[in-house]
Amino acid sequence: MQDYKAILGDIHRDLSSKTNKGQVATYIPELAHIDKNKFGIHLKTIDGFEFGIGDCYTSFSIQSISKVLALSKAIALIGETVWQRVGVEPSGHPFNQLALLEVEKGIPRNPFINSGAIVIADILLSYLKNPKDDFLRYIRDLANDDSIGFNEDVALSEKITGFKNYAAANLLKSFNNLENAVEDVLDFYFYQCSIEMTCSQLNHTFFFLANKGNCLLNKSRLTKTQAKRINALMLSCGFYDEAGEFAFEVGLPGKSGVGGGIVALLPNHFVITTWAPGLNPKGNSLLGMQSLEQFTTKTKLSIF
Ligand code: GLN
Repeated sequence: MQDYKAILGDIHRDLSSKTNKGQVATYIPELAHIDKNKFGIHLKTIDGFEFGIGDCYTSFSIQSISKVLALSKAIALIGETVWQRVGVEPSGHPFNQLALLEVEKGIPRNPFINSGAIVIADILLSYLKNPKDDFLRYIRDLANDDSIGFNEDVALSEKITGFKNYAAANLLKSFNNLENAVEDVLDFYFYQCSIEMTCSQLNHTFFFLANKGNCLLNKSRLTKTQAKRINALMLSCGFYDEAGEFAFEVGLPGKSGVGGGIVALLPNHFVITTWAPGLNPKGNSLLGMQSLEQFTTKTKLSIF
């Protein structure tokens, strides 16, 4: 077995000393005051090895990483029907870009750009009895951890400033691609994005996608094919207009969030999570991406 502890220790030490740590997201005011020196990494392998370093037990806002979990719940509820309302192609544009949505008549390119995630939120709102509670229950069950929760201050902060998301939702509504009221869909979406986890909890939550759709307690959550599809989408769309760069540098399916978290995985091998709140100009964690590049280069473990 590789000496993961030594490898992660080296990566953490090397990157902690970097002076350029990127910029914390400020467009959601509650995220603007997060300390950009925070830096954690957590690894869990399929055969049970688990190791975390740095700030891996401090909670952060998972933001867009939640879009993968929402999609997974939507697929579990309505299967392939999801693809009638959202596409599976990379957008090549930032997560909040609106122009394509207008040109392509209200069908978002994929479920990980904001407009696509808002459509998925609409599906969950239609099919879940108590949407927020049921979604949180789903995530707690995946992680086998009832301490995971929403951060209402973050949700509210985004509600007050989320003008572009209101624009996206209104466009979707105008193209008849939202069933529920704009206010209700965005309320759910902002709560979904406000979920907080540590690197360790995030790792446990995503374990099912490295484990053929079976969660930590080995309960089936998705079929093997459904897990394959979600991993494929993370590879092609998980980093917006930097998805190509992430595949090039890291070579794993993954998803980022503007809270500075990244989750990446090698199916049947491991899940690795990072948290470093400073972002690069494309809105992805600067040190997180560098950590993962170093990890797959040093271990020679990637999908390629
Ligand atoms: N809640 C954020 C938004 O809608 C999520 C963006 C992200 O993490 N990339 O803008």
